[in-house]
Amino acid sequence: MRYLVLSDIHANLEALEAVLAEPVVATTSAVLVLGDMVGYGADPNAVIDRVRALRPTAIVRGNHDKVAASLASAEDFNDLARSAARWTADELTDENLEYLRLLPAGPTVVSDLIEICHGAPFDEDAYIVSDRHAARALKTASRPLCLFGHTHFPIAARLDPDEHFRLVGRGPKLAGPIPLEPGARYLINPGSVGQPRDGDRRASFAVVDSDPPSVDIRRVVYPVERAQAKIVAAGLPALLAKRLSIGQ
Ligand code: ZN
Repeated sequence: MRYLVLSDIHANLEALEAVLAEPVVATTSAVLVLGDMVGYGADPNAVIDRVRALRPTAIVRGNHDKVAASLASAEDFNDLARSAARWTADELTDENLEYLRLLPAGPTVVSDLIEICHGAPFDEDAYIVSDRHAARALKTASRPLCLFGHTHFPIAARLDPDEHFRLVGRGPKLAGPIPLEPGARYLINPGSVGQPRDGDRRASFAVVDSDPPSVDIRRVVYPVERAQAKIVAAGLPALLAKRLSIGQ
């Protein structure tokens, strides 16, 4: 089985369409979505409609999905995120608000090989930003491959059969298929489709092959300027448009 993995699309329709147009996507037969379909970008309804049409095999909610759907308050958000969340909640159709409300919290087991979550397997809202967090996540995960999002930063870490923790790679240089060795456990973030934060403005996503197991993190150029113009035209904070240029 080959899976397309999408995380942190953040209402960026241009980035999502560019990913879906990649030839490699035609080689996949299932879609996994790691949360945060909305927030920051100008196309929350179109992005949700597009994701729903893909009929994801598994999907979990992100913190921005929760706030937009009034399942959580925006008190932990910074000003930018809060004003985008307010705009998003007003913009969403009743049907899409209901869809967000019904999304499951992670972690969700996909197969014997894979589980997915938004933040971490031990807490859907936790940020994995250090080796210590990553090691804890690896020990908590119930499957050999745990896919997570939330930080918008592609990274791969592994726990060897002897419990030795190792960073496989991180950031824009983390490209090409990562073969998953039997007996080792992996924690992998495919990066963000719609708001990358590793200094590379290209949309980030992954293709997971279950046999033999591998994870391929890929990048694709998309019309950033078009997404930015929509953000500005929508009256969303200009900084949300600006950051897309630099991938931060
Ligand atoms: Zn996010």
